[in-house]
Amino acid sequence: MKWGGSLKLRKVLIANRGEIACRVMRTAKRLGIATVAIYSDADAKALHVKEAGEAVHIGPSPAAESYLRIDAIIAAAKAKGADCVHPGYGFLSENAEFAEACAAAGLTFVGPSPGAMRELGDKSKAKALAEKLAIPVVPGWRGEGQEPKLLAREAARIGFPVMIKAAAGGGGRGMRAVTLPEDFAAALDSAVREATASFGDGRVLLEKLIACPRHIEVQIFGDSHGNVVHMFERDCSLQRRHQKVIEEAPAPGMSEGLRAKLTEAAVRLAKAARYEGAGTVEFLIEGGNLAPDATFYFIEVNTRLQVEHPVTEEVTGLDLVEWQFRVAASEPLPRRQDAIKLSGHAIEARLCAEDPAGSFLPSTGRLVACDFEPMDGLRIETAVGPGDEVTAYYDSMIAKLVAHAETREEALDNLARALDRSRVMGPKTNARLLEGLTSEESVRKGVVDTGLIGRRIEHLAPSGLDRHAIRLGVHRLLEQAAGTVAKAGQTRLPWQSDDSFELGSGRRRQAREIVVDGTVMTAEIVWGLTGPEIAIRGLGGDALCAPAGDTHIVADDGRVLVLHDLRQTIVAWPVHGRAAGASADDGRSVIAPITGRVAKVLVASGDRVKKADVIAIVEAMKMEHVLHARCSGVIRRLAVQEGQQVAQGVLIAELDIEEAP
Ligand code: ADP
Ligand code: ADP
Ligand code: MG
Repeated sequence: MKWGGSLKLRKVLIANRGEIACRVMRTAKRLGIATVAIYSDADAKALHVKEAGEAVHIGPSPAAESYLRIDAIIAAAKAKGADCVHPGYGFLSENAEFAEACAAAGLTFVGPSPGAMRELGDKSKAKALAEKLAIPVVPGWRGEGQEPKLLAREAARIGFPVMIKAAAGGGGRGMRAVTLPEDFAAALDSAVREATASFGDGRVLLEKLIACPRHIEVQIFGDSHGNVVHMFERDCSLQRRHQKVIEEAPAPGMSEGLRAKLTEAAVRLAKAARYEGAGTVEFLIEGGNLAPDATFYFIEVNTRLQVEHPVTEEVTGLDLVEWQFRVAASEPLPRRQDAIKLSGHAIEARLCAEDPAGSFLPSTGRLVACDFEPMDGLRIETAVGPGDEVTAYYDSMIAKLVAHAETREEALDNLARALDRSRVMGPKTNARLLEGLTSEESVRKGVVDTGLIGRRIEHLAPSGLDRHAIRLGVHRLLEQAAGTVAKAGQTRLPWQSDDSFELGSGRRRQAREIVVDGTVMTAEIVWGLTGPEIAIRGLGGDALCAPAGDTHIVADDGRVLVLHDLRQTIVAWPVHGRAAGASADDGRSVIAPITGRVAKVLVASGDRVKKADVIAIVEAMKMEHVLHARCSGVIRRLAVQEGQQVAQGVLIAELDIEEAP
């Protein structure tokens, strides 16, 4: 069968959601291709549904029951008369069975052939092909045998530290760096479990861990006529959890010599696999220097459009989604290699709902605010707005901010300004970390590596209290309380209780419990009869400052959210003396840190555990969160079972403490 066929595309079903579904539709509309969206229960009101010509409800909220349902998606495409399917990224985009199912149903899959996908999408197979072509790969082990004993032996042979990787991996999942041999077995177990849950494939490979490398990737494009071109490189070295946070093109400090080697290797690999469509060939550069003789290793190919593709679009002036459609319609590549030129500099930041100060744990909840200021040299890719919910079902990305300018310096300035003016409130976000990165000295100099964020995390995501924000929050809470009392016609303000005392000249003082970001604390509030002179002692003393220009305050549902310096603080009165979800920090309770599914329970009621023993593993937003005992003791009660859904703050287990934390 000839892949693709020479058809003109008229209607596309986009088998994805969020910003990438909107992005694909934008180009489809420009090309006169009608659009069909699919959506889950959670996405019934999502932007990608509103923007599509037609939309089909595909199933319940969990991805496994909606966006990953091959049969339901094919049926939707057929029912709506679509002639092609664009998979976006993530979900089914690298699933060869899905591409085959599309072909079997007479639908053109906008992506590579299932054969090329199988050969390149699997990390082990892709490395084998690269080796055959004499492209350097990271030393390590790969093979069919997956027995833990064999793998442990191979890890010892490679020499620690090693990297365990899911063969089917993506998005940093199923990947574990192991430094000590004694930690290998547990890390392997966890990697296999995460890989099985994420990709339905638990096979792993092992690699030597390259210390703090640069991540450089090459954008490639192939067509059904045997042509392959590259669109230069992207530098994606700024990462957390092995996942990209900031990406840019061209790579700062890239020598022409190394660029020539990397792009040549990428094109050769794609040609060998008869690659069609958009793809990315990823490399690690040891030492971080991009000199012509730098040591580089091929690591993997992503057989799809990449999250960070806009960076390449901005510096080449090309529309990669248009190229994808044209290639899928069997047209030759729109341009030859020598007509693809680099111009200016582009840099993208992924703004995510996550807590950089708390191990980058994803954060969920309603977006109380979500505003970005359009400006010159800035492209905003997002599909959510104020009032939308960030759920635990899907990826935590809220928006991509892509800055473009003549020089890297200006592009960084544009990105910094865009972040500075962003206003995202509700879930925790990495906005401040991103903004901090734009002014980091080494980032400014273009000296980056994959370990940079980890080394600078204390500086980029300070975990201390923001006293100014707390004061503003309490101030607004008092105002709110006064408003409520005034409406109810009462005379006594809620804080004028008996535990307060007179300070003279009508000023009163009271200690009150407040909840700041989920933790109960005590503030001393001093107020006059005219509200504005409120001051909070015990939290830095001095009187309240007027809100600065870069401070945003939103009162929402009995709590006050303060965004100050891109850092969010949530202040509330305690409910029944204690905030919902606030933990009694005595080490006795093991609490779910995030809404998710209990993937594994490692203890039974009555078990004796030591401090740091693993109690359970909660899986959420495609990641595993390991819950440890915070002190030694005996499991008095196990409150959950494997497979159970749990909400954030829910009790997992209770301990009888034998030794304080
Ligand atoms: P990689 O790190 O493999 O190169 P990217 O950094 O391009 O991949 O991220 C793509 C991966 O991230 C996908 O495999 C997908 O699972 C996940 N992902 C990121 N953002 C989203 C999103 N908005 N919707 C769905 N999946 C997403
Ligand atoms: P994924 O499919 O999740 O994108 P990759 O193999 O592309 O997996 O690796 C993702 C990131 O993990 C890389 O960009 C790099 O930062 C880190 N990484 C991967 N392999 C190694 C290695 N052998 N040594 C050091 N870091 C690595
Ligand atoms: Mg990768």
